[in-house]
Amino acid sequence: MYFADNTIYTYLQDHHTKVYNIGWLDDQYEYRKGYVAPKIIRKLVRIGERMDVNICRGAHFCQYCYKNPTFQIENKNHPRGNGEIWLPNKSFTKVYVAPKLILHYIQAHQYLPPKEFIDAIAGYNFIRRFIFEHIFIKYLIKPTPDL
Ligand SMILES: [Zn+2]
Repeated sequence: MYFADNTIYTYLQDHHTKVYNIGWLDDQYEYRKGYVAPKIIRKLVRIGERMDVNICRGAHFCQYCYKNPTFQIENKNHPRGNGEIWLPNKSFTKVYVAPKLILHYIQAHQYLPPKEFIDAIAGYNFIRRFIFEHIFIKYLIKPTPDL
């Protein structure tokens, strides 16, 4: 399932102009590589653990690992992910949707997400518990957040 970064999200729901794809990689397409700070990765792990959006019946496998012969011999369990991470930017004007596998892409394949997604992770506030439906309905459809 490939979607270019920062395109409008249309995968499991009708498109909404404030919801964007991040990290939907596919081995047919190049992706940007680079360094992501460990504290950002740790925070994204915590965010992902608290979020179960759009869980599907089948898991989403990592194509890069799957095609690596060494990996196939040594690891019966291919990295997989199920579900999505929905992450608002700090001002709640955009929501980024990433597959759970994004963590694996960052850690194992040096995927570098766009800066605005890194900023959204950095600015994410656990105290203002992000509940996707709540944010989506209250802050995206009705425009002015009062948090
Ligand atoms: Zn992989």
